[in-house]
Amino acid sequence: MTEIVAPVPPGSTIGILGGGQLGRMLALAAAPLGYRVHIFAPEPELVAADVSAEVTRADYRDRHALSAFAAAVDVITYEFENVPSDAVAFLEGLCPVRPGHLALDVSQDRLAEKRFVEGLGGRTAPYWAVDSLADLDAGLAASGTPAILKTRRFGYDGKGQVRIETAADAAAALADLGGRDLLLEGLVRFEAEFSIIVARCPNGAEQHFPACLNTHAGGILAESRVPAVGLDPSHVAEATELVVRIADALDYVGVLTCEFFACADGPVLNEMAPRVHNSGHWTIEGAETSQFEQHVRAICSLPLGPVGLRAPMVEMRNLLGEDINHWEALLADPAAHLHLYGKSAAAPGRKMGHVTFLRQEGSAKRAFCD
Ligand code: AMP
Repeated sequence: MTEIVAPVPPGSTIGILGGGQLGRMLALAAAPLGYRVHIFAPEPELVAADVSAEVTRADYRDRHALSAFAAAVDVITYEFENVPSDAVAFLEGLCPVRPGHLALDVSQDRLAEKRFVEGLGGRTAPYWAVDSLADLDAGLAASGTPAILKTRRFGYDGKGQVRIETAADAAAALADLGGRDLLLEGLVRFEAEFSIIVARCPNGAEQHFPACLNTHAGGILAESRVPAVGLDPSHVAEATELVVRIADALDYVGVLTCEFFACADGPVLNEMAPRVHNSGHWTIEGAETSQFEQHVRAICSLPLGPVGLRAPMVEMRNLLGEDINHWEALLADPAAHLHLYGKSAAAPGRKMGHVTFLRQEGSAKRAFCD
């Protein structure tokens, strides 16, 4: 029997842990459905707070502030996966938190994540836990080179990882990343990278967006394209089934994103993110329901929205650092939908905004050069 979970009705307040661009776009999607948003985050610059009703600027370990936050909101979610899991577990005692701390426990640690995914029958990159030079040498002997050494925790956008070209580089790479709590990954020879984004409600109802093809530059997402032309449909189906199994196993509520390598033998899961994701930004204009609205619907136990494409082809490009200087040219392109995140400093590689193009065909010219 399907469990009935009462909706968090419009007019309620959604609490979001984290105050970056994902929180900002969640708040913007919550507003038309009649929700208020309250941001909780420690950083001085909170671009999500600019578009939210309330903000609490406090440390995630501040139990007093967390309690007051839980008392002021009706449901809590998070917009980045490095929120301390024990803060989320604490909040769970006070207010529904969706998704809960279990999803964080798995996704915050690359080793736990890989074991979890394998336990559900998924494929991952070959990996070796590394806490010493001896571990690394043994891993490299098995993986061969090149290989990639990563921190188990707190890595993002290619940070916290070093590519090892020859075994002689091992000691330097180890020292670079702090010497312990690391993971060596064998290099996966992939044909393409793609994401699967699934939304799951408290009653177990699920809906997934069409797969998108991703291109990275320097470890950072550069572009996502939909439909994912060239991917083997049976591999996409296999990947989607795995993400649904992951969501079910975690009793997950909200949007869950998994990034995959498309390989000759089938999909290899690279990474999971228990949240809305950069590779889903195309859904704002490109899908019938955006990933942000879908997340709001899921955590508020509302019916999920349809996920069909609004154009034959959708492209999303990140605007990193000085790329935002192209804003005028982008605004002049009728196919371009510009999103600027309101960040003050355009540091190199920093995600300052994105632009989505709705295309009738793939060959149309772009408003700013590659
Ligand atoms: P990550 O932060 O781990 O998702 O890595 C960022 C990007 O680096 C990925 O999207 C891939 O393009 C590349 N990468 C990471 N790990 C591997 C791997 N084991 N084999 C091949 N490429 C990788």
